[in-house]
Amino acid sequence: MIKTRGYAAHDPSSPLQPFDFERRDPGPEDVGIEILYCGVCHSDLHTARNEWQNTLYPSVPGHEIVGRVVAVGERVTRFKVGDLAGVGCMVDSCQQCPSCAEGLEQYCENGFTGTYNGRGSENTYGGYSQTIVVKESFVLTIRHDARQLAAVAPLLCAGITTYSPLRHWQAGPGKQVGVVGLGGLGHMAVKIAHAMGAHVVLFTTSPDKQADAHRLGADEVVISRDKQQMAAQRNRFDFILNTVAAPHRLDDYLNLLKRDGTMTLVGAPAEPHPAPQVFNLIFKRRQLAGSLIGGIAETQEMLDFCAEHGIVSDIELIPIQAINEAYERMLKSDVKYRFVIDMASLRVPTAT
Ligand code: NAP
Ligand code: ZN
Repeated sequence: MIKTRGYAAHDPSSPLQPFDFERRDPGPEDVGIEILYCGVCHSDLHTARNEWQNTLYPSVPGHEIVGRVVAVGERVTRFKVGDLAGVGCMVDSCQQCPSCAEGLEQYCENGFTGTYNGRGSENTYGGYSQTIVVKESFVLTIRHDARQLAAVAPLLCAGITTYSPLRHWQAGPGKQVGVVGLGGLGHMAVKIAHAMGAHVVLFTTSPDKQADAHRLGADEVVISRDKQQMAAQRNRFDFILNTVAAPHRLDDYLNLLKRDGTMTLVGAPAEPHPAPQVFNLIFKRRQLAGSLIGGIAETQEMLDFCAEHGIVSDIELIPIQAINEAYERMLKSDVKYRFVIDMASLRVPTAT
């Protein structure tokens, strides 16, 4: 077993604190990774605080993992010691059901194993830690320059969670695409939709993010609290990607879709949204959909797409000791635009 230090939540209300645990020794198909950076996703916060009421404690969050390979099992073919590698939201799935057979492990009919919070009653520990051991088939190849590594980490969740629906609903040239919320997911959605060639309109509750949104690739910015600005957007969008982490009125956005347009929810608030008006859907055959991260093959495709287009995340690098404060700032939409933990900070001795 490999002794590992991490940070864990032990209950819904206490701050995360240092936590020592063990990883398995790498088996024949496993890759051992020294974690260098880990992004901070709003799902980490939902889980640490048991907002989805399914948290297994102790909870070591973190599913935007990048690092260096330090061990490979004898049957590993794609990685060698010293390579850069990434791990996203999943570390295993049944590999036998129709969804797994189609490379859609995130929809595994037997339930995938999360990088943290495991599956069923079996816990797994995520990326707020020094090392991780993962089956090769769930490890991603990083083709970005090594100097960009910290900013690559958020692609492993925020990147794929936005890339997958943008591809599925065919964002591209000639398409009017709305992105709701400029946080971790939203800022990746703006960059990726722009790179795909769509006309991108960003909806934000934060007027001070307007200039950034343009810099990130938005063609237009709408302040969603301004009724007049919202009314001017009616019936124009082919596709809207909604990344908001809190309950809000979906009708405000459904009304902006043109006939046959789709709004896809990726934000996963703890409390439900108020139900939308049926008439807003039926009169224009509009669709309301959801989407969950992305499969392993598509995650690699996204990483390669981002490497080719020079896309990384805009990050604020933090030491692990600042994680609790980072969560509070995330709740205030005060992230520009993803916190990433520098795992070197775990080696700094702490008082606890
Ligand atoms: P984040 O960085 O906190 O961004 C959320 C953004 O939503 C905020 O920056 C803010 O943008 C906007 N917002 C927040 N509160 C709002 C409110 N009350 N009304 C309107 N807008 C509000 O979070 P994230 O990491 O991007 O994650 C977003 C959500 O996606 C979370 O619920 C997370 O769990 C979920 N998620 C889902 C998947 C999936 O597979 N479906 C994967 C990862 C994460 P503005 O300041 O621009 O308004
Ligand atoms: Zn995530």
